[in-house]
Amino acid sequence: MTTKSSTKMHIPLLDLKSQYRAMKAEIGSAIQKILDSQSFILGPEVQELETAIARFCGTKYAVGVTSGTDALFLSIKAMDIGQGDEIVTTPFTFIATGGAIHNAGAKPVFCDIDPRTFNIDTKKIKAKVTKNTKVLMPVHLYGLMADMDGVMAAAKECGLKVIEDNAQAIGATYKGKVAGSIGDTGCISFFPGKNLGAYGDAGMVVTNDEALAQKIKVLRVHGSKVRYIHEMIGFNSRLDNLQAAILIVKLKYLNDWTKRRQENADYYNSQFKGLPLQTPFVPEGYTHVYHQYTMRVPNKRDSLMSFLNNNGIEARTYYPIPLHLQECFKELGYKKGSFPETEKAMDEAVSIPIDAELTLEQKEYVVAKVKEFFA
Ligand SMILES: *Cc1c(COP(=O)(O)O)cnc(C)c1O
Repeated sequence: MTTKSSTKMHIPLLDLKSQYRAMKAEIGSAIQKILDSQSFILGPEVQELETAIARFCGTKYAVGVTSGTDALFLSIKAMDIGQGDEIVTTPFTFIATGGAIHNAGAKPVFCDIDPRTFNIDTKKIKAKVTKNTKVLMPVHLYGLMADMDGVMAAAKECGLKVIEDNAQAIGATYKGKVAGSIGDTGCISFFPGKNLGAYGDAGMVVTNDEALAQKIKVLRVHGSKVRYIHEMIGFNSRLDNLQAAILIVKLKYLNDWTKRRQENADYYNSQFKGLPLQTPFVPEGYTHVYHQYTMRVPNKRDSLMSFLNNNGIEARTYYPIPLHLQECFKELGYKKGSFPETEKAMDEAVSIPIDAELTLEQKEYVVAKVKEFFA
């Protein structure tokens, strides 16, 4: 251990190059096939991927779109929600969650998090619901599903729809149900850095609701079912064949990658026992897919992060500013102190490399450096 930890290594948060090297030939021939066909938009590969993702998530339908952001946006649009409507969500998320709500014409209403899971605190949802509330939008942050029993109970009681922001938790489960399959729609991102990443932007909506699936299919292609006949004003949000072909290849490996992420997390959890930090909390009945391995480090987060970065280990905080304190949401009227658990978590959260490509030597180096910091 001492010799290893004394040689400086470089460990990125995500090693996409190693992942690519392992399947280069397969990806190359999938891309070549599209190039030979010279057919690029909404072709058979998109349908094949939709079928495969619907099966993977345990839903009846899946609709490929341009990005995870558009999956959220089109879900809202397909529910005829917009001006004057409110959507309750978490401020502890990537900006796209709030951005999609705003761009659909609705108003994001934030609700504080459960400090153990970083996800929306379902006990606090009802206090945020008004006569204008139409949707609950839980985010399955870092690869751990939100308390979906609590979300669905609140939705049922208040007569609300549920859109799951499942950008970070593809394949995660809760009481045997797969992320994205519980709400009215589940929104997946295939951004390159996500657990199942395309080679560009791509996303998908999964749902069991046939009418919603059909409407999103129409909305993604300019509001038309039949070419040049437009029953509604839509958008251009198509998933292209190249990305679909790449994702079909990568989907075969997803369960294996997830297993390796979970093994890496188990390793860190056991090695970090006794240190003054909190390893990720996984409640009973959940499986975590570790899009991020995010620890809470009271008081010393920033100094740990710079120590790790100085030692070649990429460590970051997702996300440094909560949505309610972002300049762009100023007019919503929140201020510092509005969501104490979110703000505290943002001061303490740090993510370290966890992806499937990590070698044992790299993990040992990360552990050695974390221990050295606290020694
Ligand atoms: C990545 C992400 C999105 C947006 O997905 P894109 O495919 O990048 O548009 C939305 N919500 C969350 C929580 C994300 O992490």
